[in-house]
Amino acid sequence: MPDLILALKVDVDTERGTRLGVPALARAFDELGVHASFFFSLGPDNTGRALRRVFRPGFLKKVKRTSVVSTYGMRTLLNGILWPGPHIGARHAHIMRAVRDAGHDVGIHCYDHIRWQDGLHRMRMGEVRREFGRARAEFERVFGVPATCAAAAGWQADAQSLTAYDEADLAYASDTRGACPFFPTVRGERFRTLQIPSTLPTLDELMGRPDYPEESLATHYFSLLRRNTVNVMTLHAEIEGMAKYAWFREFLTRAMSMRVQFVTLAEVARTTLVAPAAIPVHELVLAEIDGRSGTLAVQGNAVA
Ligand SMILES: [Zn+2]
Repeated sequence: MPDLILALKVDVDTERGTRLGVPALARAFDELGVHASFFFSLGPDNTGRALRRVFRPGFLKKVKRTSVVSTYGMRTLLNGILWPGPHIGARHAHIMRAVRDAGHDVGIHCYDHIRWQDGLHRMRMGEVRREFGRARAEFERVFGVPATCAAAAGWQADAQSLTAYDEADLAYASDTRGACPFFPTVRGERFRTLQIPSTLPTLDELMGRPDYPEESLATHYFSLLRRNTVNVMTLHAEIEGMAKYAWFREFLTRAMSMRVQFVTLAEVARTTLVAPAAIPVHELVLAEIDGRSGTLAVQGNAVA
């Protein structure tokens, strides 16, 4: 029987998550000999401005379910409202470099998480270029080399963001929910940056729901893993690295005992791109995902 293959993608959304959650996850990975793919928010942490989403359907329900205040901390929720958002790259470059030096992939999550997640689809092309350009510039300042990969904040992607990726000559991106790596098209326009979708739900999409009690969540995840393909699980530094750290350690230990094989997204990209003609082309569409408010980028129908 072939091994189960799992790539762990870590989205780092906040200053607090960078400072506390990232080192905790890196320690756990180091102890177990696992490598993962980290995507950093590189500019100001304006998390507090997400409170505007209160007016969006589904948001309050999620806030209640996932106890946002205890997960993110009151200070973080006021960043960008009561005081200017702290600049994450300026404060924590050494933490980001330590992750890279430990052998993990590092890439761009965003410059300003809120601006990208809530604003991408209203931006003009020039604004998308400017916002992604800021993230690239800060990445290069922190790491000394250009970014080769990105995973969009809030799974927000469209023809303009994919254009910016192609212009930046990325090796791969992971903005979508879906089943397998693909080349994306949007309304007939085809893009050349490989998309590697997250195949599993995130912990915060399942947390606090009566149909998914916490003690059986790990078993639920293992039941979703498929053989003969790469499973991709998105973690959050603020959740698996902090509020649900104990749960995640236990999950990892169980995965190791099941001989789950861990790979990084860069490894997935490298092995997939060996045979580009075999990579399917799919539409990238926006759709709702159970447990999350608003719409996300999703792997749509295959294009002949
Ligand atoms: Zn994020």
